[in-house]
Parts: sequence; C-alpha cells; structure tokens
Amino acid sequence: MSTSALSTPSSVLEAGHRELVDAFESFVRRELVPLAAELPETADQPPADLRAYVRKRSAALGFYAGDYPEELGGADMPFTAVVLLHHAAGRSGCPLAPYALAGSDGPSPLLRHGTPEQIERHLVPLVRGEQARCLALTEPQAGSDAFRLTTTAVRDGDGWVLNGRKTFVSNADRADIALVVTATDLGEGAGPTGGATAFVLPMDHPGLRIGQRYEGMSGEPLFELTLDQVRAPMDAVIGGEEGVGAATALAMDSLSRGRLVVAAMCNGIAEYALRLGVEYARERKAFGEPIGNYQHVQEHLVATRAEVEASKLLTLACARLVDEGTEAPENAALAKLTASETAVRAVDRSLQVHGATGWVRGHPLEFLYRYVRMTTIIEGTSEVQKVIVARAMGLG
Ligand SMILES: Cc1cc2nc3c(=O)[nH]c(=O)nc-3n(C[C@H](O)[C@H](O)[C@H](O)COP(=O)(O)OP(=O)(O)OC[C@H]3O[C@@H](n4cnc5c(N)ncnc54)[C@H](O)[C@@H]3O)c2cc1C
Repeated sequence: MSTSALSTPSSVLEAGHRELVDAFESFVRRELVPLAAELPETADQPPADLRAYVRKRSAALGFYAGDYPEELGGADMPFTAVVLLHHAAGRSGCPLAPYALAGSDGPSPLLRHGTPEQIERHLVPLVRGEQARCLALTEPQAGSDAFRLTTTAVRDGDGWVLNGRKTFVSNADRADIALVVTATDLGEGAGPTGGATAFVLPMDHPGLRIGQRYEGMSGEPLFELTLDQVRAPMDAVIGGEEGVGAATALAMDSLSRGRLVVAAMCNGIAEYALRLGVEYARERKAFGEPIGNYQHVQEHLVATRAEVEASKLLTLACARLVDEGTEAPENAALAKLTASETAVRAVDRSLQVHGATGWVRGHPLEFLYRYVRMTTIIEGTSEVQKVIVARAMGLG
C-alpha cells in the first residue's frame, strides 16, 4: 500500500480535479518514467533537448501551462488544478515530471501584462512550450530586497540604454529570451528614480552576455548576466509606455501564484519522501524486526505525515482563494514557508530512516536532499515570508 492510496483530509479538496490529476499521472507513468529510466543513474539534471521535448509534449496534452487561456495555447484551468498538478509531479518521484509543468523557464506572469504584440511574439511560444525564458532580477547587492537595483535603463531618444550585472539567473544557458528588471532613469540627470522597468530581450541581443556560471547543489547551474551598453527599443519594455517604472507592481501581482506553485511542488516531494520512508521501514530489518516497529522510526514518519497533510491543506486552501480572487499575500507566504520547511525536514527524516542506503549517490533521497534545499531560498527566503506574515500581523 502506498501512502498516496491512503484516504487523507486533503483528498476532500482534491476531489473536483481527480480526473485531470489521474490523466497527468498516467502521462507521467506511460511516457516520462520510461524516458527517465534511460538517464544515467547519477545524472542530476536531464539534458536540455529532453527537457524541451517533455515541455512541448506536455503542452500539446494541455498540462504544461494549464492556467493560461486557450487562445494563448493554455487550457483555461483554475489555479487549484495547476497546484494539484505540481503536487502530483513532485509526488511521482519521476525526475522528468517537474519539467512537464511551467516553472522558472516557462511563461512568466510578467508577460501577461505585455502589449498585444509582446503576448503574441513572446508569451504564446512560452505557453506552448516552444521556447524557454530566464528572469534576471537578482543583483550582487540586491537579493531579498530585490528592487534595490543598480542595473539601469536610461532613456535615450525613442529607446533605452541598459547597463549592469545580474546574478544567480536560472536557465540562462538554454533560454530564448531574458526578462531583465532594471532601475529606470528617465534621463533628466536625476539618476535611477523612476521605479523599476522590465524588458524582454532575445538572448543574442547585442551587449547582453552570459558571464560566470555558478554550480548549484542539485546540479542545476545559475548564471551571471552582464549588460553592457544594451540598446533596447521601446517595444522591449514589458507593457510598453505604461510599463515604464511599473515592474514592481506587475511582479507583485503574481507573487502569490509563484509561491503556491513552489509550495505544491514541496508538498509533493515531501509526500514522495514519506512514501519511500514508509516502504523502507516495512521491509528493512534490524535486530530481527522491521525497523518500522521501532517508535523512534515511527516518529520520523508520523511527524512527517502530520506536517505534510497540514501543509497540503494550507496550500490548497490558498489556491482556492486565488481562484476566488480573495487571496492575500500573507497566506501564500505562510503556505510557501510551511511547505518548503516541511519538505526539507521530510527528505532529511526519510534519508535518516534509510541509513547509508539513502546517502549513496544514485538513490533518489540523496538527490532530493540536495535539490529540496533551494526551496527555502527561491521565490523569497523563509525569513522574507516571515517578514510578510509579521507585517500582516501588525508587527514591525
Ligand atoms: C536555485 C536558485 C535559483 C535562482 N534563480 C533565480 C533567477 O532565475 N533569477 C533571479 O533573479 N534570481 C534567482 N535566484 C536568486 C534568489 O532570488 C535570491 O537568492 C533570493 O532572493 C535571496 O537573495 P540572496 O541570495 O541575495 O540572499 P540575501 O538577500 O542576501 O539574504 C541572506 C540572508 O538574510 C536573510 N534576510 C534578508 N533580508 C532579511 C530581512 N529583512 N529579515 C530577515 N532576514 C533577512 C535572508 O532570508 C537570508 O537568510 C535564485 C536562487 C537560487 C538558490
């Protein structure tokens, strides 16, 4: 019996989308698991061409960017359904499943605020999985305080000149376009005082270069992007003239969705780690008995189950609020905080239950132990989520 077959409190909230989740799980089992079986056991990341294939195939089946409108290539799904699919991808344990759903290289909510021409030219190929993008926001001196930017866009006649340096950019090596967020200088000699402006640029745009490569814990590299006298036309500003100085407001609009998607993936990973732990505890014997008979081992697994169920309920409830248009940012912050911290603990405990077996390279828990660690940093660190919640509670 697997833990996913258990009747759980969160099953109640999943009920409305069970057919969709079943169809996605069947796609993962029938098409992605056999492809993943051909990957070298110790490969942390699938090759770029395989990721691109998975993305396109999933988009053709209607899963990839399901919450985008049909006319843009999506499936008009409610956000709750998207959250359940991300959960199912994490829970599957299939290393290719996360690439079947839009993530950090997929359609960006920022582009939903693009001009009709930007939507057609840039957003539609991303929704269809035909292209990939990266987001260049973080700078050496602007991480959690993401909009204290020193990369500038200076108005120059009809267009702009961009200069600066971005760090820790995911997907830069295989993206078709970069979304670059800059401090705006309206050219009155007052310096970058005009708020933040986001640009969409092809990766081969003159003056835009990939610099340093940072090797990450889970094999996924990050990159530096440098902008040296990059000349950008007005139609590269996301949202056109109205987008000038408006990037912060545009990004805020989508923060909750991004955080809830990470939360859903974390809940799925935690559930997968729990399943591996329970199965192993039933089989592995020590001192003549299955280790699952020992209360110290049960403690690891029952504590994880309690945390995962609570976290799933919180994430799903927030997703529903998004669909109802009543989500408040502190709820998504709570969900992301809870889910990412739960997933880190769940993987750690399951690895402990596996002993040396889980520590060995090639075991799924060895990889997940490194992979899951990023989730308390991306989309706002755990501390930043706490700051958001504290402020909402009238503190600080
Ligand atoms: C795997 C991965 C992928 C990434 N991909 C991208 C990407 O594609 N594009 C991009 O632009 N960036 C990306 N980033 C960067 C990411 O957004 C930043 O790492 C994140 O915003 C945190 O910034 P920082 O690393 O500079 O940490 P800092 O902001 O320097 O924080 C350091 C520590 O101080 C804490 N801290 C900071 N401020 C406060 C506060 N007010 N109260 C309490 N504690 C605080 C933090 O929580 C953290 O523990 C990625 C990072 C990782 C790890």
